[in-house]
Amino acid sequence: MTNMQKNDLIQIDITDLNNLGSGIGHIQGGESDGLTVFVQGAVTGDRVTAKVIKLTAKYAVARLEELLIASPFRENGFCDAPLSCGGCVFRHVSYLHELDRKKTYVENAFRKAGIADICLDSVLTTGQTVGYRNKVQYPIGQDFHGKTIYGFYANATHRIVRSNGCRLQPAIFDEIAEYVCRFCDTHHIASYDEKSQKGNLRHLFLRIGKATGEIMLCLVIHQECFPEESLFVEEIQKRFPSVVSIYINQNRHNTNVIMGDSYRLLTGKETIEDILCGIRFRISPQSFYQVNHDACEILYSTVADFAELTGKETLLDLYCGIGTIGLSLAKKARKTIGVEIVAEAVNCAIENAKLNAIENAYFLCGDAGDSESVLSTALSECEKVENAIVVLDPPRKGTTETMICAIARSGVSKVVYVSCNPDTLARDCRSFTDKGYVISRAKVVDMFPRTGHVETVVLLVRNRCL
Ligand code: SAH
Repeated sequence: MTNMQKNDLIQIDITDLNNLGSGIGHIQGGESDGLTVFVQGAVTGDRVTAKVIKLTAKYAVARLEELLIASPFRENGFCDAPLSCGGCVFRHVSYLHELDRKKTYVENAFRKAGIADICLDSVLTTGQTVGYRNKVQYPIGQDFHGKTIYGFYANATHRIVRSNGCRLQPAIFDEIAEYVCRFCDTHHIASYDEKSQKGNLRHLFLRIGKATGEIMLCLVIHQECFPEESLFVEEIQKRFPSVVSIYINQNRHNTNVIMGDSYRLLTGKETIEDILCGIRFRISPQSFYQVNHDACEILYSTVADFAELTGKETLLDLYCGIGTIGLSLAKKARKTIGVEIVAEAVNCAIENAKLNAIENAYFLCGDAGDSESVLSTALSECEKVENAIVVLDPPRKGTTETMICAIARSGVSKVVYVSCNPDTLARDCRSFTDKGYVISRAKVVDMFPRTGHVETVVLLVRNRCL
C-alpha cells in the first residue's frame, strides 16, 4: 500500500482487542508498514474492510465497513442499542474472550509500569453478565417530539442515547424510569437543558439492595422543587412498593458532576439496606457502594484470602466508603480502622458497625492520601507495626505518593491494594516495589461484565527495609 490517507478503504486482519472495544490491526507493507489501526467493533481474528477516519503519525482509527472473515470470538445479540451508547464495549465478543482481554489489559498495565513478571490466574467472575448492576444514574432529556426520555450519554458526549432496556440493570429500573418520564410529560415538567440552562429534571438515580430488594429513588433537579411532589411520591409508592426511600437532590451547577450537594428526603427511609458477606449495610445516597453485589463478595473474599488475618492484626481500611471491607473482616482482626472522605459514608460506616454489633471497628472522616494525620493516628492504635495490615481501595486516580512513602517508612508488612483502574494500580505498585515491597499475589475480578472496566486485587509484602 502507498502512503495511507484519510477516507481510504483498507483491508486488515484484527490481531487484538483493547479495553475500549476496539479491534487492533497493523498495516502490512508499503509506506505505512506496521502502523497500528484501531477499528471499533472489530474482534481479534476478524478480517475486515474499514474506512480510515483519523490518521496520526503513530496510529489510525478506522470505521468497520464490511466483515470479510468473522472471528470465532464473535458473539452477537447481547444488545441492540446503538453502538454510540458506548457502555458494553464487549457486547459483540464471547464472554470468555472478554475475560481473556481483561487479564491482558491488567498485565499490560503492569508491564508499562515496569513490572513484567506479574502472575495472574484466570479472571474471577460470577458468570452473570446481565442484570448485575445495583445502581444507575439515567440522564433525562427530550426527544424531537418534546417527549421526556431517559438513557445514557453517548460516548464522550452529553447526547442521550435512549435506553431500550439496558441489560446490565434490573428490569425494574427501566419500569421506574419510564414511569418518571411519563409523569413529567403528564405534568409538563421539563427536563433540564444544558445549553440553555433551563428546565428542571436532570437525572434519575436508582439504587437497589440486592438482598433486601429495597430501592432508593433520587430525582436530581435544577430548580428548588419538583412540581407535584406529593402526587409523585404517592403514585411511586403505589406502583413500586419496593421504593422505600425517595430523595430530591438539587444540582444548580452546569458541570459533569451528576449530584449536587443538597439532598432532601421526600419520604421513607434515609438509607436502604443490603446484606453483603453476611453483614447488613445501610447505604445513604451520597455513599459509594460497589455496583455488583455478587462479584463484590468474590472481591472481598479475595481480600480476606490475601490478608490472612489471625486475630492479632490491626486492619487499616483506607478509602473505606460505608465500611464494607473493614466490617466484613472485623471479626478476624483485633481492630479495624476505616478512613473515608465523605462524611455521610463515615456516618453509615459507624452505624453499620453498631447494626452488626461489631465493637472493634472505628471510622474516621479524612483524606486517606494525607499520610501524616491518617497513618499516625491509625498506627498509634496498633500494638506492633508488624501487626498492621493496610487495605487500599482508592478511586480511579489511585492513592498518593506521599501515602505510599509513609506506609513504606512506617514498616507496615502487608498491603492489600484493591483497584478499579489497572493503570494507576500498576503505577502505585511500582512505587511500592521501588520501596522494598514485592507483589506476592494478584487476582483480577470481573465486577463489570461486558464493559471495559475491571477490578484487581494485589497483595504487596514487605521484603526489605527502606
Ligand atoms: N472500599 C469501599 C469504597 C471504595 S470506592 C468499598 O469497597 O465499597 C473509593 C472510596 O474512596 C469512596 O467511598 C470515596 O468517597 C473515597 N475517597 C475518595 N477520595 C478519598 C480521599 N482522598 N480520602 C478518603 N476517601 C476518599
